[in-house]
Amino acid sequence: YAGDPILGLMDAYQADPRPQKVSLSIGLYFDEACRLPVLGAVRQAEEALLREIGPRPYLPMHGLADFRAGVQRMVFGADHEAVKAGRIATLQTLGGSGALRVGADFLHRYFPASAIWVSDPTWDNHRVLFEAAGLQVHTYPYYDAATGGLRFDAMLECLQGLPRQSVVLLHASCHNPTGVDLSAAQWDALIPVLRERELIPFVDMAYQGFGDGLDEDAFAVRALADAGLQFFVANSFSKNFSFYGERCGGLSVVCRDRQDADTVLGQLQAGVRRIYSTPPTHGARVVAKVLGDARLLASWTQETAGMRIRIRAMREQLHAALHETFRGERDFGYLLSQRGMFSYTGLNESQVDRLREQHAVYLVRSGRLCISGLNNANVEAVAAAMAEVIRSA
Ligand code: PLP
Repeated sequence: YAGDPILGLMDAYQADPRPQKVSLSIGLYFDEACRLPVLGAVRQAEEALLREIGPRPYLPMHGLADFRAGVQRMVFGADHEAVKAGRIATLQTLGGSGALRVGADFLHRYFPASAIWVSDPTWDNHRVLFEAAGLQVHTYPYYDAATGGLRFDAMLECLQGLPRQSVVLLHASCHNPTGVDLSAAQWDALIPVLRERELIPFVDMAYQGFGDGLDEDAFAVRALADAGLQFFVANSFSKNFSFYGERCGGLSVVCRDRQDADTVLGQLQAGVRRIYSTPPTHGARVVAKVLGDARLLASWTQETAGMRIRIRAMREQLHAALHETFRGERDFGYLLSQRGMFSYTGLNESQVDRLREQHAVYLVRSGRLCISGLNNANVEAVAAAMAEVIRSA
């Protein structure tokens, strides 16, 4: 195994003796002090659980009931008609990755003729996960290197030409790796195409809360549900709970009615049974406690806002420093229009290599920069290093 290129970069970063080194590669949220935060709401929930520690039975294959209900409230909104009608089949999964894989297995089993289309580019592991489940993976146009924006017309045209029941993977918000998202108006234009072409949307929502807010980032999911489509949503608590290693995520399949949802849930359970049997208890209990307790929920909501605001501030500072250096000779507006933890900088592989070798600044070779690795202490130096490699090209 050649290893994962991003994890390989992390190893190289750890081994780098230069004190000024900056890691902007891996997709983790770091705080201003460059640490993975332990969120206050999570700590309080864990302390409460410790006091009432009880037995740890096997959970049902579909996971903890309170966790699953919490996922539905968070992803769709507590008052959504689809939630109230009981027409969503939700499973507790091993992170967002587990949700993608269990969903992929289901799709391959019940729609064996369907292939999946993912954005060009997308998170590298999407291809790996879906191919492993047996699906053929194709791409639709997405990122526009010339503008740092979206090739929306080309995307729409491609989706209009897909065979019926093709699966379309869509990022709900904070697209990984580009940071380029659809606007609300673009979602509104896309949804009729998905419906008319009878495509199967699979929405990946790994960064809920990091774009505009917990509810705002779920706009696409709720708009699809409002439009009466049947679709899949993978959500993850890795980033917004700073909970990476606990492997907490959810898979929700929005169905026509409660009866279909029960049938789908049964088949998803059968899928889980074939792989890992049941999910783990601890992280799910913590998430369920935070999402189910008004005080903890309010505190966590505020903490996600803190992370989002810090990410925005770093985008603005990096933009301001580069804008100042280039004095309008080059446009860095993409840093402000792209959202979430990642930006596609447009730096090429040799510029990324030079950043690492000459300046100890680590980006992914695609030019993806993880904004949350920036802080007040390093942002000016990173901007200066980026300016140097851009000028030397
Ligand atoms: N989807 C996207 C777009 C991601 O960026 C990630 C993680 O980086 C995941 C899914 C997987 O999340 P998890 O760590 O919860 O498996």
